[in-house]
Amino acid sequence: MKILVLNAGSSSHKSCLFDLTQASDASLAPSPIWRATLDWTHAEGQVELSAETESGSALNQSLPITDKAEGIAAMLNTLVEGETQVLDSLSDIDGVGHRVVHGGRDYVDSVRIDSDVKAAIQRLIPLAPAHNPANLQGIHAIEAILGDIPQVAVFDTAFHAQMPAAAATYPGPYAWIDQGIQRYGFHGTSHRYVAQRAANLLGRDLADLKLITCHLGNGCSLAAVKNGHSIDTTMGFTPLEGLMMGSRSGSVDPGILIHLIRQEGYSGDRLDQLLNKESGLKGISGISNDLRLVIDAMEQGHDRAKLAVEMFLHRLRREIGSMLASLGGLDALVFTAGIGENSALIWQQACEPFAFLGLNLQDNLGRSAADQDIATPDSSIRVLVIHTQEEWAIAQACLKSCSNLP
Ligand code: AMP
Repeated sequence: MKILVLNAGSSSHKSCLFDLTQASDASLAPSPIWRATLDWTHAEGQVELSAETESGSALNQSLPITDKAEGIAAMLNTLVEGETQVLDSLSDIDGVGHRVVHGGRDYVDSVRIDSDVKAAIQRLIPLAPAHNPANLQGIHAIEAILGDIPQVAVFDTAFHAQMPAAAATYPGPYAWIDQGIQRYGFHGTSHRYVAQRAANLLGRDLADLKLITCHLGNGCSLAAVKNGHSIDTTMGFTPLEGLMMGSRSGSVDPGILIHLIRQEGYSGDRLDQLLNKESGLKGISGISNDLRLVIDAMEQGHDRAKLAVEMFLHRLRREIGSMLASLGGLDALVFTAGIGENSALIWQQACEPFAFLGLNLQDNLGRSAADQDIATPDSSIRVLVIHTQEEWAIAQACLKSCSNLP
C-alpha cells in the first residue's frame, strides 16, 4: 500500500509518501520514501519546490506558478519523474490522508472524505479561516489529479471532541454554545499518537492510563488523556489559548484586549498580529521565537531572555498542575515536539515542582534519537520523551479507513 500524506497550508504545502507494503509494527514509524514541500512565501509569482527521497536524491526548483492546485500537481510530478522518482505512475497511490485543522465537535476520529465531509470542512471555515480553506483546496486538487482515490481527513480537533462539557464550554453567555464558541483544542493528531505510543512503551493498555501529553514546539499545548480520550486541553476556540508559545501569547486577560481597543483604537487585525506573531518567547525576549536562541541569550546574562524562559516554565508548570487536577492522578508525563523532544532544561524545570508526588528524573539527561523514559526507576510517575510522528499517524488513519472499504 502506498499512502500519500498532504498537509496543505496557506503559505506552504508539505507532503510525503509511505510504502506500507511490508508488514510493520504499527507503533514504530517508518521513514517516508519521498517527501516534498512547496513554499509560497519566497518571491512574488513563484513557488519554491523541494523534494527528496529516502535514498538521498533531492531537487530544489523555483517555478513560475501561483495557482495552488498547479503547484500540488508539480509537486506530485516529482514522484514519477526525474531524480526523485519513486513510483511508475501516480495511479500506484492507494489513498491520501489530509491534515485538516478544524473538524468541530462532530468528528471524533478521522473520516473517509465524501461530499458531506467536504461540506462540513467548508461550514467550519469561520472557525479556522486561515487553515480549513487551504485544507479543502488540497482535497479538491487531489481529486483533480488522482481522480476517485480514497481520501481521509484527519482532524487536529478530533482527539479532543469528546471533552466533557464542563471542560469544553466557556463561561460566557449561554448563546455562545449555539454560535460554536467553545473550546475545541488542537494538536490532536500528535497528542493521540504520543498517548498510544506511551501506552506501548509502558506495556499497558491506553484505556487504563492517566497521561499528560505536552506538545511543546513553536505552538504549545497540553492534553489530559484518560481512558484513551482527551478530557482537557490547554488550547481552546483557537490555538491561541493556554501556554506561552514561540510567538503566540497563550492565555491573557481578555480585559487587555478591551483596553487596547478602547484606549489605543486597535483593530482586530492588529490584535491578531500582536497576539499571534509578536508575543510569547519572541515578544518578551525580543530575540527569537526559537527557545534555543532564547536560552543561549539567557546564559549570556540577557535579562529579557531570562524573564521569557522563566515565564514559559511558570505557565507550563501551572498548566501541568491543572491537567493533573482534571485527571485526578497520573501514570506518565509525556514530552513531545521540538522543545519537548530536545530540551533537558525544560524537562528538569517543568518536573521539579512535582517531586513532592514522588516524580523523579534521572541525572545527566540528554537528547536521544529513540523514545526514552527519563524518570528514575523508583519514580512514582513515568516521564517519557516521545518523538511525535504526525505524518505517520495520518498515514495510519488513512490506511485504517482504506482497509475498511467494502
Ligand atoms: P516544532 O514546532 O515542533 O518544529 O518545534 C520547533 C521549536 O522547537 C523551535 O522553534 C525551538 O524553539 C524548539 N527546539 C528545537 N530543538 C530544541 C532544543 N535542543 N532546545 C530547545 N528548544 C528546541
